[in-house]
Amino acid sequence: MKITFCGAAGTTTGSKHLIEVNQTRILLDCGLYQGRRAEAMERNSDFPFDPEKIDCVVLSHAHIDHTGNLPHLCKRGFDGNIYATPATRDLCSIMLPDAAHIHESDIAWLNRHRKRDDLPELTPNYRRVDAENCLKQFVTLSYQRPMVIAPGVRLTFIDAGHVLGSAQVILDIDDQATQKQSRLLFSGDIGRPGNDILNDPAPCDKVDYVIMESTYGGRKHELATDSTEHLVKIIREIQQRRARLIIPAFAVERTQQLLFTLDKLHHENRFSSVATFVDSPLAVKATEIFRLHVDDLRPTAAQALFMRNDPFGFDGLKLIRTVDESKGLNFVKGPAIIISASGMAESGRILHHLRNNVGNSNNILLFVGYCAENTLGWKLRNGFTHVNILGDEFEVKAEIETLDSFSGHADHDELLDWFSRVGGEKKRVFLVHGEPERSDKLRDALAEQHTTGHIEVAQLMQTVEL
Ligand SMILES: [Zn+2]
Ligand SMILES: [Zn+2]
Repeated sequence: MKITFCGAAGTTTGSKHLIEVNQTRILLDCGLYQGRRAEAMERNSDFPFDPEKIDCVVLSHAHIDHTGNLPHLCKRGFDGNIYATPATRDLCSIMLPDAAHIHESDIAWLNRHRKRDDLPELTPNYRRVDAENCLKQFVTLSYQRPMVIAPGVRLTFIDAGHVLGSAQVILDIDDQATQKQSRLLFSGDIGRPGNDILNDPAPCDKVDYVIMESTYGGRKHELATDSTEHLVKIIREIQQRRARLIIPAFAVERTQQLLFTLDKLHHENRFSSVATFVDSPLAVKATEIFRLHVDDLRPTAAQALFMRNDPFGFDGLKLIRTVDESKGLNFVKGPAIIISASGMAESGRILHHLRNNVGNSNNILLFVGYCAENTLGWKLRNGFTHVNILGDEFEVKAEIETLDSFSGHADHDELLDWFSRVGGEKKRVFLVHGEPERSDKLRDALAEQHTTGHIEVAQLMQTVEL
Protein backbone atom coordinates (compact mmCIF):
# COMPACT_ATOMS: atom_id res chain seq x y z
CA MET A 1 0.00 0.00 0.00
CA LYS A 2 1.18 3.51 -0.83
CA ILE A 3 -0.04 6.81 0.62
CA THR A 4 0.71 10.16 -1.03
CA PHE A 5 -0.16 13.37 0.82
CA CYS A 6 -1.45 15.57 -2.01
CA GLY A 7 -2.90 18.40 0.13
CA ALA A 8 -3.35 19.69 3.70
CA ALA A 9 0.29 18.78 4.39
CA GLY A 10 2.17 21.71 5.95
CA THR A 11 -1.10 23.70 5.89
CA THR A 12 -4.72 23.34 7.02
CA THR A 13 -6.49 23.45 3.67
CA GLY A 14 -6.85 21.44 0.48
CA SER A 15 -7.19 18.03 2.20
CA LYS A 16 -6.35 15.25 -0.31
CA HIS A 17 -4.58 11.93 0.34
CA LEU A 18 -4.11 9.24 -2.29
CA ILE A 19 -4.14 5.56 -1.26
CA GLU A 20 -2.87 3.04 -3.82
CA VAL A 21 -3.41 -0.63 -3.11
CA ASN A 22 -4.40 -3.74 -5.11
CA GLN A 23 -4.23 -1.76 -8.39
CA THR A 24 -6.87 0.61 -7.01
CA ARG A 25 -6.54 4.34 -6.37
CA ILE A 26 -8.63 5.73 -3.56
CA LEU A 27 -8.69 9.46 -2.84
CA LEU A 28 -9.40 10.53 0.75
CA ASP A 29 -11.07 13.99 0.51
CA CYS A 30 -10.82 16.37 -2.43
CA GLY A 31 -10.55 19.76 -0.76
CA LEU A 32 -10.08 23.21 -2.11
CA TYR A 33 -6.89 25.04 -1.17
CA GLN A 34 -7.88 28.35 0.45
CA GLY A 35 -5.37 31.15 0.93
CA ARG A 36 -3.85 34.02 -1.00
CA ARG A 37 -5.55 34.29 -4.38
CA ALA A 38 -2.57 33.62 -6.70
CA GLU A 39 -1.39 30.60 -4.72
CA ALA A 40 -4.94 29.24 -4.37
CA MET A 41 -5.55 29.56 -8.10
CA GLU A 42 -2.32 27.79 -8.89
CA ARG A 43 -2.87 24.93 -6.42
CA ASN A 44 -6.53 24.39 -7.34
CA SER A 45 -6.09 24.55 -11.10
CA ASP A 46 -4.57 21.09 -11.46
CA PHE A 47 -4.22 17.72 -9.73
CA PRO A 48 -0.97 15.88 -8.98
CA PHE A 49 -2.58 12.71 -10.40
CA ASP A 50 -4.76 11.81 -13.35
CA PRO A 51 -8.42 12.32 -12.28
CA GLU A 52 -9.54 9.66 -14.78
CA LYS A 53 -7.41 7.05 -12.99
CA ILE A 54 -8.97 7.58 -9.54
CA ASP A 55 -11.32 4.69 -8.74
CA CYS A 56 -13.27 6.26 -5.88
CA VAL A 57 -13.30 9.16 -3.43
CA VAL A 58 -14.02 8.90 0.31
CA LEU A 59 -15.09 12.12 2.07
CA SER A 60 -14.50 12.79 5.76
CA HIS A 61 -16.93 15.74 5.94
CA ALA A 62 -18.60 18.51 3.96
CA HIS A 63 -16.29 21.47 4.64
CA ILE A 64 -15.03 23.05 1.42
CA ASP A 65 -11.37 22.50 2.38
CA HIS A 66 -12.23 18.77 2.21
CA THR A 67 -14.72 18.68 -0.71
CA GLY A 68 -14.45 21.90 -2.73
CA ASN A 69 -12.39 20.55 -5.63
CA LEU A 70 -14.73 17.57 -6.28
CA PRO A 71 -16.71 19.28 -9.10
CA HIS A 72 -13.39 20.01 -10.78
CA LEU A 73 -12.20 16.40 -10.34
CA CYS A 74 -15.42 15.10 -11.93
CA LYS A 75 -15.23 17.65 -14.74
CA ARG A 76 -11.71 16.40 -15.49
CA GLY A 77 -12.86 12.83 -15.97
CA PHE A 78 -13.29 11.17 -12.57
CA ASP A 79 -16.44 9.03 -12.87
CA GLY A 80 -16.26 6.71 -9.84
CA ASN A 81 -18.23 6.65 -6.60
CA ILE A 82 -17.94 9.37 -3.95
CA TYR A 83 -18.53 7.77 -0.54
CA ALA A 84 -19.89 10.02 2.21
CA THR A 85 -22.31 9.90 5.14
CA PRO A 86 -25.92 10.90 4.31
CA ALA A 87 -25.61 14.25 6.13
CA THR A 88 -22.31 15.04 4.37
CA ARG A 89 -24.00 14.37 1.04
CA ASP A 90 -26.92 16.67 1.92
CA LEU A 91 -24.60 19.46 3.10
CA CYS A 92 -22.53 19.07 -0.08
CA SER A 93 -25.72 19.53 -2.12
CA ILE A 94 -25.91 23.14 -0.88
CA MET A 95 -22.26 23.93 -0.17
CA LEU A 96 -20.68 22.79 -3.46
CA PRO A 97 -23.01 24.84 -5.72
CA ASP A 98 -22.54 27.82 -3.37
CA ALA A 99 -18.75 27.52 -3.55
CA ALA A 100 -18.95 27.16 -7.34
CA HIS A 101 -20.95 30.37 -7.52
CA ILE A 102 -18.33 32.20 -5.42
CA HIS A 103 -15.55 30.80 -7.66
CA GLU A 104 -17.35 31.90 -10.86
CA SER A 105 -18.02 35.39 -9.45
CA ASP A 106 -14.37 35.66 -8.41
CA ILE A 107 -13.16 34.82 -11.92
CA ALA A 108 -15.68 37.26 -13.46
CA TRP A 109 -14.37 40.03 -11.17
CA LEU A 110 -10.75 39.19 -12.09
CA ASN A 111 -11.62 39.17 -15.79
CA ARG A 112 -13.08 42.67 -15.61
CA HIS A 113 -9.70 43.87 -14.28
CA ARG A 114 -7.72 41.77 -16.75
CA LYS A 115 -9.71 43.18 -19.68
CA ARG A 116 -8.77 46.68 -18.58
CA ASP A 117 -5.09 45.62 -18.58
CA ASP A 118 -5.42 43.81 -21.93
CA LEU A 119 -4.72 40.42 -20.35
CA PRO A 120 -6.36 37.22 -21.66
CA GLU A 121 -9.54 36.08 -19.91
CA LEU A 122 -9.45 33.29 -17.30
CA THR A 123 -11.96 30.46 -17.29
CA PRO A 124 -13.32 29.04 -14.02
CA ASN A 125 -12.03 25.57 -13.05
CA TYR A 126 -15.64 24.46 -12.83
CA ARG A 127 -19.10 25.95 -12.82
CA ARG A 128 -22.23 25.58 -10.74
CA VAL A 129 -23.57 22.95 -13.14
CA ASP A 130 -20.44 20.80 -12.53
CA ALA A 131 -21.10 21.03 -8.78
CA GLU A 132 -24.68 19.89 -9.31
CA ASN A 133 -23.56 17.07 -11.63
CA CYS A 134 -20.96 15.64 -9.25
CA LEU A 135 -23.69 15.07 -6.65
CA LYS A 136 -24.96 12.23 -8.87
CA GLN A 137 -21.78 10.25 -8.10
CA PHE A 138 -22.37 10.18 -4.33
CA VAL A 139 -23.00 6.88 -2.56
CA THR A 140 -24.01 7.33 1.07
CA LEU A 141 -22.97 5.12 3.94
CA SER A 142 -24.12 5.58 7.54
CA TYR A 143 -21.81 5.40 10.56
CA GLN A 144 -20.67 1.90 11.60
CA ARG A 145 -21.87 0.19 8.40
CA PRO A 146 -18.78 -1.47 6.83
CA MET A 147 -18.77 -1.67 3.04
CA VAL A 148 -16.30 -3.12 0.53
CA ILE A 149 -15.32 -0.27 -1.83
CA ALA A 150 -12.44 -1.87 -3.74
CA PRO A 151 -10.76 -5.31 -3.98
CA GLY A 152 -9.45 -6.04 -0.48
CA VAL A 153 -10.56 -2.65 0.93
CA ARG A 154 -13.41 -2.23 3.41
CA LEU A 155 -14.59 1.24 4.45
CA THR A 156 -16.26 2.13 7.77
CA PHE A 157 -17.27 5.64 8.85
CA ILE A 158 -17.35 6.49 12.56
CA ASP A 159 -18.45 9.81 14.08
CA ALA A 160 -15.82 12.57 14.25
CA GLY A 161 -18.05 15.07 16.14
CA HIS A 162 -16.70 17.99 14.08
CA VAL A 163 -19.67 19.06 11.94
CA LEU A 164 -22.96 17.37 11.10
CA GLY A 165 -22.16 14.11 9.26
CA SER A 166 -18.42 14.36 9.90
CA ALA A 167 -16.59 11.06 9.92
CA GLN A 168 -13.33 9.39 10.77
CA VAL A 169 -12.49 7.04 7.93
CA ILE A 170 -11.45 3.45 8.70
CA LEU A 171 -9.97 1.40 5.86
CA ASP A 172 -9.43 -2.30 6.51
CA ILE A 173 -6.93 -3.35 3.89
CA ASP A 174 -5.95 -6.77 2.65
CA ASP A 175 -2.85 -5.97 0.59
CA GLN A 176 -2.53 -8.66 -2.08
CA ALA A 177 1.05 -7.70 -2.99
CA THR A 178 2.49 -8.00 0.52
CA GLN A 179 -0.12 -10.41 1.94
CA LYS A 180 -0.40 -7.99 4.88
CA GLN A 181 -3.64 -7.05 6.57
CA SER A 182 -3.83 -3.67 8.22
CA ARG A 183 -6.19 -0.99 9.49
CA LEU A 184 -5.69 2.63 8.44
CA LEU A 185 -7.51 5.39 10.34
CA PHE A 186 -7.89 8.85 8.77
CA SER A 187 -9.10 11.21 11.49
CA GLY A 188 -10.65 13.83 9.16
CA ASP A 189 -11.14 16.92 11.34
CA ILE A 190 -11.61 15.98 15.00
CA GLY A 191 -14.37 17.65 17.00
CA ARG A 192 -14.51 18.60 20.66
CA PRO A 193 -15.92 16.32 23.33
CA GLY A 194 -18.92 17.78 25.17
CA ASN A 195 -20.28 19.69 22.18
CA ASP A 196 -23.95 20.71 22.67
CA ILE A 197 -25.22 19.40 19.34
CA LEU A 198 -22.80 16.74 18.14
CA ASN A 199 -21.67 13.43 19.58
CA ASP A 200 -18.15 13.03 20.96
CA PRO A 201 -15.62 11.66 18.47
CA ALA A 202 -16.02 7.84 18.48
CA PRO A 203 -13.06 5.65 19.55
CA CYS A 204 -11.49 3.18 17.14
CA ASP A 205 -9.61 -0.02 17.92
CA LYS A 206 -6.88 -2.20 16.33
CA VAL A 207 -5.36 0.62 14.31
CA ASP A 208 -2.01 0.10 12.54
CA TYR A 209 -1.60 3.42 10.71
CA VAL A 210 -3.04 6.86 11.48
CA ILE A 211 -3.40 9.99 9.37
CA MET A 212 -4.26 12.64 11.97
CA GLU A 213 -5.18 16.31 11.83
CA SER A 214 -3.15 18.81 13.88
CA THR A 215 -4.91 22.20 13.45
CA TYR A 216 -4.65 23.26 17.09
CA GLY A 217 -1.44 21.47 18.14
CA GLY A 218 0.03 23.47 21.04
CA ARG A 219 -3.11 25.63 21.49
CA LYS A 220 -5.80 25.65 24.13
CA HIS A 221 -9.42 26.85 23.71
CA GLU A 222 -11.35 29.07 26.15
CA LEU A 223 -13.65 27.07 28.48
CA ALA A 224 -17.21 26.72 27.19
CA THR A 225 -18.74 27.91 30.48
CA ASP A 226 -16.65 31.11 30.46
CA SER A 227 -17.69 31.89 26.93
CA THR A 228 -21.40 31.38 27.71
CA GLU A 229 -21.15 33.97 30.49
CA HIS A 230 -19.32 36.25 28.10
CA LEU A 231 -22.10 35.88 25.51
CA VAL A 232 -24.83 36.63 28.08
CA LYS A 233 -22.97 39.78 29.14
CA ILE A 234 -22.74 40.98 25.54
CA ILE A 235 -26.44 40.38 24.87
CA ARG A 236 -27.51 42.20 28.04
CA GLU A 237 -25.26 45.06 27.03
CA ILE A 238 -26.90 45.57 23.64
CA GLN A 239 -30.34 45.28 25.23
CA GLN A 240 -29.44 48.06 27.61
CA ARG A 241 -28.02 50.21 24.84
CA ARG A 242 -30.89 49.28 22.48
CA ALA A 243 -28.17 48.57 19.95
CA ARG A 244 -27.15 45.88 17.46
CA LEU A 245 -25.05 42.78 17.92
CA ILE A 246 -23.59 41.74 14.57
CA ILE A 247 -22.13 38.21 14.40
CA PRO A 248 -20.29 37.08 11.26
CA ALA A 249 -20.61 33.28 11.36
CA PHE A 250 -19.99 30.34 9.07
CA ALA A 251 -23.31 29.22 7.60
CA VAL A 252 -22.83 25.57 8.44
CA GLU A 253 -22.41 24.43 12.05
CA ARG A 254 -21.29 27.70 13.66
CA THR A 255 -24.66 29.35 12.99
CA GLN A 256 -26.62 26.33 14.26
CA GLN A 257 -24.35 26.10 17.29
CA LEU A 258 -25.05 29.74 18.09
CA LEU A 259 -28.80 29.29 17.66
CA PHE A 260 -28.75 26.25 19.94
CA THR A 261 -26.82 28.15 22.61
CA LEU A 262 -29.06 31.21 22.33
CA ASP A 263 -32.14 28.99 22.62
CA LYS A 264 -30.75 27.27 25.71
CA LEU A 265 -29.89 30.59 27.39
CA HIS A 266 -33.29 31.88 26.45
CA HIS A 267 -34.96 28.92 28.16
CA GLU A 268 -32.83 29.44 31.23
CA ASN A 269 -34.14 33.03 31.29
CA ARG A 270 -30.60 34.39 31.13
CA PHE A 271 -31.83 37.37 29.13
CA SER A 272 -35.21 38.67 27.98
CA SER A 273 -36.42 38.04 24.45
CA VAL A 274 -34.42 39.83 21.80
CA ALA A 275 -35.10 40.01 18.05
CA THR A 276 -32.62 37.64 16.37
CA PHE A 277 -32.12 37.35 12.62
CA VAL A 278 -30.21 34.75 10.63
CA ASP A 279 -29.44 36.48 7.36
CA SER A 280 -27.65 33.96 5.17
CA PRO A 281 -29.52 31.87 2.60
CA LEU A 282 -26.94 29.10 2.98
CA ALA A 283 -27.30 29.07 6.78
CA VAL A 284 -31.09 28.85 6.49
CA LYS A 285 -30.79 25.86 4.13
CA ALA A 286 -28.14 24.23 6.35
CA THR A 287 -30.40 24.61 9.39
CA GLU A 288 -33.10 22.65 7.50
CA ILE A 289 -30.56 19.88 6.88
CA PHE A 290 -29.76 19.72 10.61
CA ARG A 291 -33.46 19.14 11.24
CA LEU A 292 -33.44 16.25 8.72
CA HIS A 293 -30.56 14.47 10.45
CA VAL A 294 -31.75 14.32 14.04
CA ASP A 295 -30.32 10.78 14.26
CA ASP A 296 -26.79 12.14 13.84
CA LEU A 297 -27.11 14.66 16.69
CA ARG A 298 -26.22 14.20 20.35
CA PRO A 299 -29.26 12.48 21.95
CA THR A 300 -29.86 15.44 24.29
CA ALA A 301 -29.93 17.82 21.31
CA ALA A 302 -32.21 15.49 19.36
CA GLN A 303 -34.50 15.31 22.39
CA ALA A 304 -34.45 19.09 22.74
CA LEU A 305 -35.41 19.40 19.10
CA PHE A 306 -38.68 17.63 19.95
CA MET A 307 -39.21 18.61 23.60
CA ARG A 308 -38.64 22.30 23.14
CA ASN A 309 -40.35 22.16 19.80
CA ASP A 310 -37.38 23.51 17.94
CA PRO A 311 -34.07 24.71 19.40
CA PHE A 312 -33.24 26.29 16.05
CA GLY A 313 -36.46 28.31 16.10
CA PHE A 314 -36.91 30.08 19.46
CA ASP A 315 -39.10 33.07 20.22
CA GLY A 316 -37.90 36.20 18.49
CA LEU A 317 -35.87 34.29 15.85
CA LYS A 318 -36.47 35.08 12.20
CA LEU A 319 -34.77 33.33 9.29
CA ILE A 320 -34.25 35.82 6.47
CA ARG A 321 -34.53 34.52 2.93
CA THR A 322 -35.08 37.33 0.41
CA VAL A 323 -32.89 40.32 -0.39
CA ASP A 324 -35.78 42.67 0.44
CA GLU A 325 -36.14 41.14 3.91
CA SER A 326 -32.39 41.50 4.34
CA LYS A 327 -32.45 45.19 3.40
CA GLY A 328 -35.40 45.65 5.77
CA LEU A 329 -33.12 44.78 8.70
CA ASN A 330 -31.65 48.28 8.44
CA PHE A 331 -34.90 49.70 9.69
CA VAL A 332 -35.54 47.34 12.60
CA LYS A 333 -36.06 49.38 15.78
CA GLY A 334 -34.65 48.41 19.17
CA PRO A 335 -32.00 45.89 20.18
CA ALA A 336 -31.31 43.10 17.69
CA ILE A 337 -28.90 40.27 16.97
CA ILE A 338 -27.95 39.72 13.33
CA ILE A 339 -26.09 36.49 12.45
CA SER A 340 -24.83 36.48 8.89
CA ALA A 341 -22.19 34.84 6.67
CA SER A 342 -19.41 34.64 5.77
CA GLY A 343 -17.60 34.06 9.04
CA MET A 344 -14.44 35.84 7.87
CA ALA A 345 -16.56 38.73 6.47
CA GLU A 346 -15.07 38.07 3.05
CA SER A 347 -18.29 37.92 1.06
CA GLY A 348 -22.04 37.61 1.49
CA ARG A 349 -24.72 39.68 3.21
CA ILE A 350 -22.62 40.30 6.33
CA LEU A 351 -20.79 43.00 4.34
CA HIS A 352 -23.96 45.11 4.12
CA HIS A 353 -24.64 44.73 7.84
CA LEU A 354 -21.07 45.75 8.64
CA ARG A 355 -21.37 48.82 6.38
CA ASN A 356 -24.52 49.86 8.19
CA ASN A 357 -23.39 49.18 11.74
CA VAL A 358 -19.62 49.47 12.07
CA GLY A 359 -19.73 53.26 12.49
CA ASN A 360 -21.97 53.24 15.59
CA SER A 361 -20.16 53.02 18.93
CA ASN A 362 -23.24 51.49 20.61
CA ASN A 363 -23.07 48.40 18.44
CA ILE A 364 -21.01 45.29 19.11
CA LEU A 365 -19.34 43.07 16.48
CA LEU A 366 -18.77 39.55 17.76
CA PHE A 367 -16.35 37.11 16.10
CA VAL A 368 -16.92 33.43 16.88
CA GLY A 369 -14.55 31.73 14.45
CA TYR A 370 -11.20 31.65 12.76
CA CYS A 371 -10.41 34.55 10.36
CA ALA A 372 -7.60 34.07 7.85
CA GLU A 373 -4.97 36.78 7.61
CA ASN A 374 -5.90 39.91 5.62
CA THR A 375 -9.62 39.16 5.50
CA LEU A 376 -11.99 41.93 6.65
CA GLY A 377 -12.85 39.82 9.71
CA TRP A 378 -9.18 39.55 10.63
CA LYS A 379 -8.70 43.33 10.28
CA LEU A 380 -11.69 44.05 12.53
CA ARG A 381 -10.56 41.46 15.09
CA ASN A 382 -7.12 43.02 15.10
CA GLY A 383 -8.28 46.53 15.89
CA PHE A 384 -7.94 48.34 12.54
CA THR A 385 -9.46 51.80 13.01
CA HIS A 386 -10.46 52.16 9.36
CA VAL A 387 -11.60 49.41 6.98
CA ASN A 388 -12.74 49.23 3.40
CA ILE A 389 -16.12 47.54 2.94
CA LEU A 390 -17.42 47.00 -0.60
CA GLY A 391 -15.33 49.84 -1.99
CA ASP A 392 -15.90 52.51 0.69
CA GLU A 393 -13.82 53.44 3.72
CA PHE A 394 -15.43 53.26 7.18
CA GLU A 395 -14.22 54.28 10.61
CA VAL A 396 -14.59 51.40 13.08
CA LYS A 397 -16.47 52.74 16.09
CA ALA A 398 -18.41 49.61 17.09
CA GLU A 399 -17.03 47.51 19.95
CA ILE A 400 -15.21 44.33 18.90
CA GLU A 401 -15.58 41.08 20.87
CA THR A 402 -14.35 37.54 20.21
CA LEU A 403 -15.41 34.10 21.47
CA ASP A 404 -13.21 31.20 20.39
CA SER A 405 -14.87 28.38 22.29
CA PHE A 406 -17.32 27.75 19.46
CA SER A 407 -14.46 26.16 17.52
CA GLY A 408 -15.33 22.87 15.85
CA HIS A 409 -11.77 21.60 16.27
CA ALA A 410 -10.28 19.74 19.20
CA ASP A 411 -7.53 21.73 20.93
CA HIS A 412 -4.11 20.33 21.89
CA ASP A 413 -5.23 18.39 24.98
CA GLU A 414 -8.35 17.14 23.22
CA LEU A 415 -6.23 15.88 20.30
CA LEU A 416 -4.02 13.96 22.74
CA ASP A 417 -7.10 12.58 24.42
CA TRP A 418 -8.51 11.45 21.06
CA PHE A 419 -5.23 9.73 20.21
CA SER A 420 -5.11 7.93 23.55
CA ARG A 421 -8.49 6.41 22.75
CA VAL A 422 -7.31 5.04 19.40
CA GLY A 423 -6.46 1.39 20.14
CA GLY A 424 -3.95 -0.90 18.45
CA GLU A 425 -0.26 -0.70 17.71
CA LYS A 426 -0.37 2.65 15.84
CA LYS A 427 2.94 1.74 14.19
CA ARG A 428 3.12 4.87 12.09
CA VAL A 429 1.30 8.17 12.60
CA PHE A 430 1.27 10.90 9.96
CA LEU A 431 0.26 14.40 11.02
CA VAL A 432 -1.58 16.51 8.44
CA HIS A 433 -3.97 19.53 8.38
CA GLY A 434 -1.82 21.93 10.42
CA GLU A 435 0.56 24.85 10.04
CA PRO A 436 4.12 23.46 10.51
CA GLU A 437 4.51 24.93 14.01
CA ARG A 438 1.19 23.39 15.16
CA SER A 439 2.02 19.96 13.70
CA ASP A 440 5.49 19.99 15.27
CA LYS A 441 4.06 20.78 18.72
CA LEU A 442 1.59 17.94 18.42
CA ARG A 443 4.27 15.54 17.16
CA ASP A 444 6.48 16.26 20.17
CA ALA A 445 3.63 15.73 22.62
CA LEU A 446 2.47 12.53 20.90
CA ALA A 447 6.01 11.15 20.75
CA GLU A 448 6.19 11.41 24.56
CA GLN A 449 2.88 9.61 24.99
CA HIS A 450 3.38 6.94 22.31
CA THR A 451 6.93 5.65 22.44
CA THR A 452 6.31 2.39 20.57
CA GLY A 453 5.15 4.01 17.32
CA HIS A 454 6.70 6.45 14.90
CA ILE A 455 5.12 9.92 14.71
CA GLU A 456 5.95 12.16 11.75
CA VAL A 457 4.69 15.34 10.14
CA ALA A 458 3.60 14.54 6.57
CA GLN A 459 5.21 16.59 3.79
CA LEU A 460 3.37 17.78 0.71
CA MET A 461 3.63 15.16 -2.09
CA GLN A 462 5.53 12.76 0.18
CA THR A 463 4.80 9.11 -0.65
CA VAL A 464 5.10 6.40 1.98
CA GLU A 465 5.01 2.69 1.35
CA LEU A 466 3.48 0.56 4.11
ZN1 LIG B 1 -13.65 20.80 8.86
ZN1 LIG C 1 -10.52 21.01 7.63
